[in-house]
Amino acid sequence: MGRPLNLKRSTTNEELFRRAKRFIPGGVNSPVRAFKAVGGVPLFIKEGKGSKIYDVTGRGYTDYCMSWGAIILGHAQPEVIKEVKKVLEKGTSFGAPIELEIKFSEMICKAFPSIEMIRLVNSGTEACMSAIRLARGWTGRKRIVKFAGCYHGHADYLLVRAGSGGMTFGVSDSAGVIKDIARHTLVLPYNNLEAVEKTIKKVHKDIACIIVEPVPANMGVVLPEPGFLGGLREMCDYYGVLLIFDEVITGFRVSYGGVQKLYGVQPDLTCLGKIIGGGLPMGAFGGKKKIMKFLAPSGPVYQAGTLSGNPVSVSAGLETLNILRRNKNMYNSLEENTGLLCEGIKDNIKRLKVDALINQIGSMFTVFFTDRGVSDYLTALYSNRKRYAGFFHGMLKKGVYFPPSQFESCFVSSAHTVGDIKKTIEATYEAFRGIK
Ligand SMILES: *Cc1c(COP(=O)(O)O)cnc(C)c1O
Repeated sequence: MGRPLNLKRSTTNEELFRRAKRFIPGGVNSPVRAFKAVGGVPLFIKEGKGSKIYDVTGRGYTDYCMSWGAIILGHAQPEVIKEVKKVLEKGTSFGAPIELEIKFSEMICKAFPSIEMIRLVNSGTEACMSAIRLARGWTGRKRIVKFAGCYHGHADYLLVRAGSGGMTFGVSDSAGVIKDIARHTLVLPYNNLEAVEKTIKKVHKDIACIIVEPVPANMGVVLPEPGFLGGLREMCDYYGVLLIFDEVITGFRVSYGGVQKLYGVQPDLTCLGKIIGGGLPMGAFGGKKKIMKFLAPSGPVYQAGTLSGNPVSVSAGLETLNILRRNKNMYNSLEENTGLLCEGIKDNIKRLKVDALINQIGSMFTVFFTDRGVSDYLTALYSNRKRYAGFFHGMLKKGVYFPPSQFESCFVSSAHTVGDIKKTIEATYEAFRGIK
């Protein structure tokens, strides 16, 4: 599958990992990249094109990690690159407003029914952190509710039962997070309205917001049970609590308008990231005008960023959204291809009698190594991580790059062809056989 690259000097992933570990903690700039959950040495990526990535040895892989979902049009999409290049040559950041920001913000507001105003930031972490500050400022309340297994970036009070990273390393809280701060975060089981009602009833006067990944992807993909999201909306209305949807992964992934459009449930605030940056650093949060106006400089809640709304990230995001909006059939064909892939994998699961199942929505899915359904954090934890590790390395051998942890989502891009998918299905047959 690999296309050989012209390398001046051949190097290996092992060699680079050794060098990286001398200067970078654990050799990586974000923990799950280090392959700790699956063992072995991470691939150092040299280049990406369409559905493929190439490591430093020149070996090619069909990529289903897609920068953790940030890439939906495939790597180095020519139109996106062209726009970015055009903007690059005119300066990368001014710390002053630019016209592109307005166009981009308007596009997001038009795509998401619940977003009337939006603020751009530089990452999903920043988006969630700022949305929660705004919710606390607006309501004057201090506590927040989150769900076990949901990840909302690495702000102190959000690193409680925070999905993949924490699950992978077996720590529910990070060192350095002061207990007094984490104490204000209440953690409840996803898909369990009764638990939410019981808690909210008791302490609603203290609760600023409920933050949720409406379709969680950071414990692997989990689907909301019918009525769960609507139930959260009703409860929040009844008790005067703000509802925040963290659509950093799902926004522009499951539909042009996110989970909220698909399920018809409107949050008060929405956090975005990943896809909206078109592969460059970007995040955003937005919602009702009256709440967003509470942000500085029009309101008392402070929030700022030197590189926020910089022309490079905005142009990459804008062109990506333009392409998604123009191609009316994009989301249907993404879903079709992903369906084809998942059906093929399920056939192999059946043929080889593997204890595994798939959760899927649109172009995201997870192969869980368990035979019980996965509907929340606890049921996700039943998955056999050792078998996932074996499966992951089997796939790697066949030239397919899945995310290096059981508790992540796979992503299909518009650059993945039916040929890619057929080869991937064949690869899963061998990989499943290898771990039997
Ligand atoms: C990735 C992610 C974040 C954090 O975004 P960063 O850009 O990595 O800071 C927050 N929430 C969800 C749901 C995510 O998947």
